[in-house]
Amino acid sequence: MQSVLEVLDKCAAYFSAKGVPNPKFDAQMLLARALKCKRLELFLQFERPMSDSELSLFRDFARRRAKREPLQHILGEVEFFGLRLKCDRRALIPRPETEEMLDNIIKLRLCNSSSPAKILDLGTGSGAMALALAKHFPDSSVLAVDASDQALELARENAAVASIRNIEIRKSDWFENIDESFDLIVANPPYLNEIEISEAEPEVREFDPISALLSPDNGMRDLRKILGNAPKHLNCGGFLVCECGLGQAEKLSVEFSNFYGKIDTAKDLSHVERYIFCQAK
Ligand code: GLN
Repeated sequence: MQSVLEVLDKCAAYFSAKGVPNPKFDAQMLLARALKCKRLELFLQFERPMSDSELSLFRDFARRRAKREPLQHILGEVEFFGLRLKCDRRALIPRPETEEMLDNIIKLRLCNSSSPAKILDLGTGSGAMALALAKHFPDSSVLAVDASDQALELARENAAVASIRNIEIRKSDWFENIDESFDLIVANPPYLNEIEISEAEPEVREFDPISALLSPDNGMRDLRKILGNAPKHLNCGGFLVCECGLGQAEKLSVEFSNFYGKIDTAKDLSHVERYIFCQAK
């Protein structure tokens, strides 16, 4: 019989050979799932022999990961801003850059009050940003929209699991079915071009929905639509905050300078100008 440590070492070597990033960590996460324990608890049972059924469950997980299926899809969940969200092919896997955008948003002085009364999340996907904002601002009402029925279904499941009630989830292609105005609008729209997608890791290229990644006009068509239409839906002094791709935030801040009272950009932890903050006149 093989011990936990033997299986972990073999799996990490197998993942390395398959080009899986973070092979040790992923092997540990998947083994912990197969043994129904926490990752750190593995370290207390290195010598423990694995049963045949545990081993066969783990082998199935490891085979999927070696084919570059994302860890989050195999585990079926992801941690995002203190929430545990369901995660599968129906929507983009929530990213650390988007958590960082929320950190930035929460630091903004919104409308001279402690919380924005009305918040809109455009292209909510799994519901990650909308749910994190609804939880952080319990007195606000949040509208989350998406054009994809599958994403809306996942966002609804996530709202139910997190028991978050100050949220409405509605089908809309950007602003198409929205008449209301907001104090804060957020979006992580598709912003990659064809070349960037072809160069992305298989986890992104083959498992995230392409509609959440790719935008025409060198990745900028959806961002332009959002920045062009948001002023009609922002209350006086309200903010639009978007995540952007390489080189896009600077370009957009010049193109749309007449649409807003003030536009700022901010870098992510990798020093890319990743976020644009547009304050309504
Ligand atoms: N940040 C994502 C990536 O690079 C792209 C998501 C998007 O286009 N909004 O994988």
